[in-house]
Amino acid sequence: MSPSRITTYLACPMKYLWTYVDSRGKWYLKAKSYYSFGTTLHKVLERFHDTGDTGVSTVGDALKVYEESWIDAGYASPEEMQEAYGEGKEIVAYTIEEELKREPGVKTVAVEKFLKYDMGPFVLIGRVDRLDQHPDGTFEIVDYKSGRYKVTEEDVANDFAMACYQLLIRKNFPGYDVKATIHALRAKARATASLSVAELQVFENDVRLLGEQILATSIDDHAPSIKLLCEGCDFQSLCRKDPRYS
Ligand code: SF4
Repeated sequence: MSPSRITTYLACPMKYLWTYVDSRGKWYLKAKSYYSFGTTLHKVLERFHDTGDTGVSTVGDALKVYEESWIDAGYASPEEMQEAYGEGKEIVAYTIEEELKREPGVKTVAVEKFLKYDMGPFVLIGRVDRLDQHPDGTFEIVDYKSGRYKVTEEDVANDFAMACYQLLIRKNFPGYDVKATIHALRAKARATASLSVAELQVFENDVRLLGEQILATSIDDHAPSIKLLCEGCDFQSLCRKDPRYS
């Protein structure tokens, strides 16, 4: 069970089934420009913050990685892609300049860190974009978002994935405080929030219940139905073929 699996299920159980359970779903998945764009920006920041990667330490190095990592899939036209490419370049230059000025003493201890926590009926897994540690020992999860135009503390406090990551860090590094930051790259903004131990306990119980419910889900339990969310969903034609579709 991962934050993506659970949020997909909460958005639409049929979407969950086509994505993770029924293999017919994979034939309907289309490339998306926002995934391509986000993956490229993540790659640049991963290389910049990876302490084992000594080749990327300046804005110029990062722009070179950006060029090498560019993914052109999913764009509607070459013009749309060129526009996104230019915007991405500007985001990379600004972000790296800001990162070079960051608070001394804060160390990046991991990038693309895979974490897991055995919750009994299932294992909760997650991959954090970046894990920093402050001089007082506090861990800070940093999650990059390439599509958001704003971010607030409240957004972070209510974000399902950020709560999962905080739970995973608490379980993997007991005794350390943890906070979570969403870095909205396009908005050039960051916001931070932290769940208390008591809040995480309530959240853990909710995740356990949800996970058990998802594990018990079968394709026969959910009929596809028309709703706002269906717009833009890759599985529309698959759902329409379902005799129960309404
Ligand atoms: S088309 Fe609608 S009902 Fe079908 S999977 Fe997508 S969101 Fe769910």
